[in-house]
Amino acid sequence: MNITIIGTGYVGLVTGACFSEVGHNVICVDCDEKKVELLQGGGIPIYEPGLEELVERNVAAGRLSFTSSTAEGVEKSDVIFIAVPTPPLDDGAVDLSFIERVAREIADCMTSYKIIVDKSTVPVKTGEKVADTIKRYCQADCDFDVISNPEFLREGFAVEDLMNPDRVVIGTTSDRPNEAMQKIYKPFNAPVIFTDINSAELIKHAANSFLAMKISYINAVAAICEASGANVEEVANGIGMDDRIGRRFLNASLGFGGSCFPKDLSAFIRISDELGYDFGLLKEVQKINASQMNRFVKKITDTLWILKGKTIGVLGLAFKQNTDDVRMSPAVDICQRLLKEGAFLRVYDPKAMDKAKEVLPDDGVLYIDKMDDVSKGCDALVIATEWPQFKELNLVKAKEAMTAPIIFDGRNLFDPVSVEQLGFTYKSIGR
Ligand code: NAD
Repeated sequence: MNITIIGTGYVGLVTGACFSEVGHNVICVDCDEKKVELLQGGGIPIYEPGLEELVERNVAAGRLSFTSSTAEGVEKSDVIFIAVPTPPLDDGAVDLSFIERVAREIADCMTSYKIIVDKSTVPVKTGEKVADTIKRYCQADCDFDVISNPEFLREGFAVEDLMNPDRVVIGTTSDRPNEAMQKIYKPFNAPVIFTDINSAELIKHAANSFLAMKISYINAVAAICEASGANVEEVANGIGMDDRIGRRFLNASLGFGGSCFPKDLSAFIRISDELGYDFGLLKEVQKINASQMNRFVKKITDTLWILKGKTIGVLGLAFKQNTDDVRMSPAVDICQRLLKEGAFLRVYDPKAMDKAKEVLPDDGVLYIDKMDDVSKGCDALVIATEWPQFKELNLVKAKEAMTAPIIFDGRNLFDPVSVEQLGFTYKSIGR
């Protein structure tokens, strides 16, 4: 199939690379000319395990190319995917201006039948609006179908998830695009579910909100564990072995972040409000998430008392392991709160330091190249991201290098008993 993907970010680029890997011809379009130049020159603007090799291989095979021209992409393909941002507005609603702009750009240059596939996460009924927009602005007399194909990849595992999806959801009101969509996804050997457009759009918001709810649930249980002396990990194992519940997404932490869960949850609450339903359950999920971070920061201030002038080492800046993405990262949030209190930070992340430099202030933050050098002169260490390599931190050396041996572990990476036996004051979540 000849496929164009408009928006070459975490979703668009990985989707393009995976589609080309299974033999489709893919053009990735992005309005950011610098990004396109970088990609054309062999560079990769984001970190995702396995992505670089995939892009390199498929560019070399002539199946994957990059352009900043939407017209070129629309002309050369029959199926056009939209993978542009849908960021939150201040009131929690979704900013759909990127989607509308792409719809108009497609309408401007469409001269024959096209299948327009929305992969961005959008509120229910957006597909109808995209179709109306294209109809309004298209000068040529040509048919088109707008369909919804929400994306469920996890950053940090995006290639793996896209190559082995647990399901593919396709929302459409006509049968005409079905054959093409089946052809696109056939090589992935995944169950394909056909729904109406509204249901497909809702599936994405309902799925992400459910996962966020699971995280807030275990974080609330963690608070009860702390108050009662129970251990949240044992509780999570005990409830997670029930296959109606499942163990995944039951890791107590300092809360969820990233570019999807917080925004999709706010959006779903807002959409429900607009449709006349007060989704109080999801408002509580948001509240628990906010209070989880407050409780963690309180642990730090209760222990260290005055933060002004203290040196704190922070391990992790990305919003989770295996990614360089710092959008809505709880780790960045902690850094900002500690800096506001006057602390000086020594920070390290295996992949996200460059992106963190763009959002953290220059003053008060020292970026350290090696994980084991972070502890030097620190009054405390904070573990903010669950990178597995942080478990390999040499705690004996860290203790020697620190001014005071205190660890605040926001990801429960260490065993409390062994860390305390080494002479640390160790505060984690729900244990
Ligand atoms: P991103 O910010 O990484 O990438 C979006 C890209 O679109 C950017 O490179 C931007 O320059 C480009 N763009 C914006 N307007 C454009 C236009 N008019 N023409 C061409 N390019 C344009 O965003 P992302 O993380 O890939 O997310 C994209 C969508 O996918 C969002 O709706 C998001 O909610 C959804 N989603 C994201 C994830 C994830 O883990 N990141 C997972 C599932 C779904």
